[in-house]
Amino acid sequence: MFNLESIFSCDGLLSNQIAGFRMRPQQLAMAQAIADAIAKRQILVAEAGTGTGKTLAYLVPALLEGGKVIISTGTKTLQDQLFRRDLPSVRAALKVPVTIALLKGRANYICHYHLEKSLQDTHLSFINREEIQYLPLIERYARNSKEGDKSGLSEVPENAAIWQHVTSTRDNCLGSECPSYKKCFVIEARKQAMMADIVVVNHHLFFADVMLRDEGLSELLPACNTVIFDEAHQLPETASLFFGESLSTNQLLDLARDTKVEAIQVAKDFTDLPNAIAIMEKAARDLRLTIIEDNTRIALSAVKHNAGFHKALKVLLEKLSDLNKLLENQAERSEGLENCRQRAAQHLRQLQQWHAETEMHDHVRWIEVYHQALQLNATPLSIAEIFQKQIMASSRAWIFTSATLSIKKDFTHYNAEMGLADVQTACWDSPYNYPEQALLYVPTGLPEPHHKRYTDYVVQAALPVLRASRGRAFFLCTSLKAMHRVYELLLAADAFDFPLLLQGQGSRTYMLERFRQMDNGVLIASQSFWEGVDVRGEALSLVIIDKLPFAPPDDPVLSARIEKINSEGRNAFMEYQLPRTVINLKQGAGRLIRDETDRGVLMICDPRLTTKAYGKQIWQSLPPMRRTRELTEVERFF
Ligand code: SF4
Repeated sequence: MFNLESIFSCDGLLSNQIAGFRMRPQQLAMAQAIADAIAKRQILVAEAGTGTGKTLAYLVPALLEGGKVIISTGTKTLQDQLFRRDLPSVRAALKVPVTIALLKGRANYICHYHLEKSLQDTHLSFINREEIQYLPLIERYARNSKEGDKSGLSEVPENAAIWQHVTSTRDNCLGSECPSYKKCFVIEARKQAMMADIVVVNHHLFFADVMLRDEGLSELLPACNTVIFDEAHQLPETASLFFGESLSTNQLLDLARDTKVEAIQVAKDFTDLPNAIAIMEKAARDLRLTIIEDNTRIALSAVKHNAGFHKALKVLLEKLSDLNKLLENQAERSEGLENCRQRAAQHLRQLQQWHAETEMHDHVRWIEVYHQALQLNATPLSIAEIFQKQIMASSRAWIFTSATLSIKKDFTHYNAEMGLADVQTACWDSPYNYPEQALLYVPTGLPEPHHKRYTDYVVQAALPVLRASRGRAFFLCTSLKAMHRVYELLLAADAFDFPLLLQGQGSRTYMLERFRQMDNGVLIASQSFWEGVDVRGEALSLVIIDKLPFAPPDDPVLSARIEKINSEGRNAFMEYQLPRTVINLKQGAGRLIRDETDRGVLMICDPRLTTKAYGKQIWQSLPPMRRTRELTEVERFF
């Protein structure tokens, strides 16, 4: 049995290997609780305030006693950081012979088969000449790389459209029928994952592939003794995405493109096929055109009277069915064409199901509209039961951790949403001295957030605070509209010459780098900067939040869930909306104090924090900062 106290002590194994390591009682207590849960194969839901050092607290017991472990993180960046930096240092410190593997979703690995097809087919699928120039680079990289991870080829931008043509999807992967199967990067990464003691994945991959669907990974979860979710507050959202069903017009256009390529190569004599492909492709595009709105989510009930939509959906069903019939006759000509047949059949099934008149009591049907595409979704009203089944399937330890899971140390909401029963819960406060380091400022005199000029009033209240802090601020907004208005108003403000950065002016990494370099910048952002952002030191001394981050009530999934909870005689606001808001707010507020020496002001503009009965519950869930409503006190603080 290992001695955690000694490992986490000031002169223990970690302090020798990890730069800046400090003994923290919370970290040791957390590691002990995780070790205990692993040994007893329990479920542990653990909240660890900022600065607890939760990564080491779970890595040490995982490496020493976890058996085969899956660690799932919120983003690919965190995944890389864990795999390339944290895991190797802890392994070296503990001197344990565990093997580690990094596994990403298949879209991250170059696919030899589709790369080959694209190289043979440049005149057909690529419109953009610039993009074609990337092909030789990708080809060379695929020849020389061991892992085939596209993040290793920085010459080709991560969002270049070419990647779609040289990576695979679950739909178009030929699996064991593929001529490149033996050298396939996806298969190799999975093999490594199967063999390794510790596998690092992300939540999307975990739900999409490990837990649910992809056959190539069906052995991974059953072989695991321990599953650890970091950033576990994101799970309800991610699980909802993957426990549902969805079909986008882009998937149909991809099917059309791949079928076209296959048809030209192996079925040139069959002239009906190109015609059927073109008609189905047009029907998919026409469906998108029936909805005028852009970048929005709408409930099925909201298109009830859109006759054009329903007619176009019917036509698409017919045309997809025609294509499917033709493919049934031709599929045996090549593995590629057989794959297209299977996809056409599956998409047809999904479309028929979504279109069926019958009510889906436990799902909400809704449409996500993008600029050029449209996605039909059926999302479960609750993920609790589905997730619970997966958890009960076998005996292993499940660890859920994040800085924001509870509401005033109460985990009822999170456990209910995830369907977690019979769990241990624990909470460790941040080791930071919040009353000394931070001030919560709620200005007086602001109108209710539904006021037409609310954002203008917010900016007016924020200006003297921004001047007092000499910039060095994040201005976090709850909507893109408010974000643009804040930017516009600050640009035009008198005697205000701090440099402004607006979300979207570059990648998140680039914006953060610029912000850190300026020592008086103001970064105006929406959702992308509410979490996972770490700016230590004086560069960030003020966080302004325009409104309490309630999810928009007209969101189709949210409103269906609210309706369901209320129809059961429960109170959806208190049970569902408020806890979610508290968790979001805690994430946003958590950007402010990032180490023992940080100081700063959190300004929450929303008057509901003090005027509504639930406001107290919200601010009591935040770290114990000193509170004020006086601008003069804020000025004194700076
Ligand atoms: S097995 Fe799938 S991912 Fe691998 S090379 Fe073939 S098509 Fe691509």
